[in-house]
Amino acid sequence: MAASYDYLIVGAGLYGAVFAHEMNKAGRKCLVIDRRDHLAGNIYTKETHGINVHMYGAHIFHTSNKKVWDYVNEFAVFNNYVNSPVAVYEDGLYNLPFNMNTFHALWGVRTPDEAKRKLASEIDKAGEALGLKDGVAPANLEEQALSLVGKDIYEKLIKGYTEKQWGRDCKELPAFIIKRLPVRFTYNNNYFNDTYQGIPVGGYTEMVGKMLDGTEVRLKCSYADLMEANAAKESDALNFKKIVYTGMIDEYFDYSLGHLQYRTLKFETELKEGVANHQGNAVVNYTERAIPYTRVIEHKHFEYINDPEKIPDTVITYEYPKEYEDGDEPYYPVNDERNQTLYAEYSKLADKQENVIFGGRLGQYRYYDMDKVIEAALDAVSAELRA
Ligand code: UDP
Repeated sequence: MAASYDYLIVGAGLYGAVFAHEMNKAGRKCLVIDRRDHLAGNIYTKETHGINVHMYGAHIFHTSNKKVWDYVNEFAVFNNYVNSPVAVYEDGLYNLPFNMNTFHALWGVRTPDEAKRKLASEIDKAGEALGLKDGVAPANLEEQALSLVGKDIYEKLIKGYTEKQWGRDCKELPAFIIKRLPVRFTYNNNYFNDTYQGIPVGGYTEMVGKMLDGTEVRLKCSYADLMEANAAKESDALNFKKIVYTGMIDEYFDYSLGHLQYRTLKFETELKEGVANHQGNAVVNYTERAIPYTRVIEHKHFEYINDPEKIPDTVITYEYPKEYEDGDEPYYPVNDERNQTLYAEYSKLADKQENVIFGGRLGQYRYYDMDKVIEAALDAVSAELRA
């Protein structure tokens, strides 16, 4: 008799791992497959010279959802890392998110009142130049940014970085992307507003491994290959009641309606032997358009917060954004109008697949943070168990 499973889970990333863990706990039998040779999808970390390297870009866990925070803490001990990136523009060094330190470095202001007055006048000037009307929502990212922070900050710290990141003019990008950047009138460099934040000690791969404890996982096994092999087996074929698909939704449907666009990153990772502390911070952004990378990550600072020099070497990664092509790893959905419209069409096809659940950044074509992925997976599990 061939094996029978309640769920085939395609993708061993965060969504798949949470779903599998919960279903396993509820007594359902799951098979998790992933075409790559490792667990954890794009939050995969790999230890090199005592440092957990974020192999597909930096991931900092942050949430205001106590339930999600308690949940991840079941699988890992989280350290007290607080993300405080700095941005380099020409000769200047500026703290992010935009706060009193940034305003002081840009304009020499020292008190919140001075900063508010200066910022308001920057916003007024930009609004007049653009002809923005009160109460009318900004039409694109450029208008959103100018109406939030004015021209000086927009041109030094937003425009170049964003256009490199997305490979598109800021006028062609949706406003919501920039809403991720808060503005503050305190000297607080914490990038996130969330209540809880940290990095799992030992890396994300270990955390995902714990979630998948007790679940059958097959790596280097793609969905297409599994299905093909299964079709050839006839009576011996594996049997799945439902599929949880966390890969690209357009790929699932063989691109029948056309290709959705994704942004990807090319990483150049360097081990610097004998350099204990290269840039003094985990994340340094380069906001000038002329510099081809968007940021440099120094991984050890995620974990060796107070004592980076405890380890004699360091590992850094340059991030070069680029358009996704066949064979790349997709990282970011491009949620502009064209893609959103196309995704809506795919989503209608998805609704008709009664036995398939589409989840995660790629399955739902959404710029999800990790906590939202967990929330969505837990919601999907509850809905399934109720059904
Ligand atoms: N951003 C920016 N300047 C910066 C950092 C971010 O203009 O120095 C903008 C940019 O549009 C980017 C968005 O903020 O796409 C979100 O950036 P974040 O670093 O939060 O996103 P991540 O790439 O980490 O998901």
